[in-house]
Amino acid sequence: MSTNVPPDFGLAPSTATTHGTRAWQEADAAHFLHPFTDHQALAAQGVRVITRGEGLYVWDSEGHRLFDAMSGLWCVNVGYGQEALVQAACEQMRTLPYYNAFFQTTTPAAVALAQRLAARTPAQFEHVFFSGSGSEANDTNVRLARRYWDLLGQPQRRVIISRHNAYHGSTMAAASLGGMAAMHAQGGLPIPDIVHIDQPHHWEHRHGVAQGMSRDEFGVLAAGWLEEKILAVGAERVAAFIGEPVQGAGGVVVPPATYWPEIQRICDRHGILLISDEVICGFGRTGQWWGCETFGTRPDLMTFAKGVTSGYVPLGGVMVGERVARVLIERGGELAHGYTYSGHPVACAVGLANLDLIERLQLVERVREDTGPYLAERLAALQDHPLVGEVQSCGLMAAIQLCRDPRTGEAFAAEQGVGMACRRHCFERGLVMRAVGDRMIVAPPLVITRAQIDEMFALIGQVLERTWEQFRS
Ligand SMILES: *Cc1c(COP(=O)(O)O)cnc(C)c1O
Repeated sequence: MSTNVPPDFGLAPSTATTHGTRAWQEADAAHFLHPFTDHQALAAQGVRVITRGEGLYVWDSEGHRLFDAMSGLWCVNVGYGQEALVQAACEQMRTLPYYNAFFQTTTPAAVALAQRLAARTPAQFEHVFFSGSGSEANDTNVRLARRYWDLLGQPQRRVIISRHNAYHGSTMAAASLGGMAAMHAQGGLPIPDIVHIDQPHHWEHRHGVAQGMSRDEFGVLAAGWLEEKILAVGAERVAAFIGEPVQGAGGVVVPPATYWPEIQRICDRHGILLISDEVICGFGRTGQWWGCETFGTRPDLMTFAKGVTSGYVPLGGVMVGERVARVLIERGGELAHGYTYSGHPVACAVGLANLDLIERLQLVERVREDTGPYLAERLAALQDHPLVGEVQSCGLMAAIQLCRDPRTGEAFAAEQGVGMACRRHCFERGLVMRAVGDRMIVAPPLVITRAQIDEMFALIGQVLERTWEQFRS
């Protein structure tokens, strides 16, 4: 039991004192098990307490301002402090804070968001299944894909093919779909009938199969790994392929333009379902409403979460294409699956207000025509930095690959922890970037302006200099 919590604990976070910070750190270490965290290390170092957000910035309890170039966790697309979302939540809570959708009931907010999503997604999507998160939505995908084939009299089609280093969430099924080795190593994953192929990561393969290949040639090669896997498993056993249009947590791995159209052809050829996990790419991140529009696929199922409410409250779901929806509805009887918070009215009301704002501010068009291209231009100028191996971006998500020798592409030794060191310099300069190994990631809120992109790159420049000073010898 922690006994040193001050009496104003939690009441006045924005005016917290140093005393407050230490008390929060101690209580946090004593009671709060954090996701994806080494607890001993965190307790030793002391957690950073974030108390307030406004626009593109968050503040910690010591009063430090941080430029949030990661949109929280790829979700705060409209930035912090948007009053319209706050109002929508308040009004819905006052009117009806909760009701379920299980027993022949619905709520106006859930209906309105379902209708709105059907209108805002590609033509094949007329139905949505709501969840509370992206992980749950991907669990739903596994259930729906297998149920679909059962109902068509092909119950042996159970295998779902995904990719190494993919991230699809952290529940048992979602972590199994994901291809993170460290996650599979804990808890006996993957669950049966989920298999993986290699990712279309040109940089990773630059000294191997991609040597001497253009990105486009490599894209066709990498898509071919799906067909090899389908044939190895037996096409009659494969239910679906799942992928993020651009792998996010894996390091903003932007696939060659040839990759996804070839994947679509392979799925079509073997009749297997295509699942597009748009938890990061959806709602304008890539410069179109959906990543599948940017990359030219026609998915049967589409996962969303994060950006649907800009992270203000939890919400996720699956857009269910008519190919699957018709079978479930016309032949399925009761679908034995659902969540207490499927269609939560407060989350749906915030989702609607968020979509209104995205449309009113024309954020998707801005990313496509203005801020996305500008970010790419600023990024390209880093290409000559002595630490930078490659830069990649798509809309407002970008990667800066650090390496020891840009001419040869020689990597730093993993033990040097260059990415993590760079991340520490970021925090010191008041910038939040993410490190995936030695690949630095940014995915700023979609409300970012050109001037704020300049501000972000000024900070990135300083951080790269410091990292270079630290590791040049
Ligand atoms: C974050 C993420 C998920 C998981 O969403 P949660 O809301 O954390 O469960 C799934 N897929 C992708 C692509 C993600 O980035």
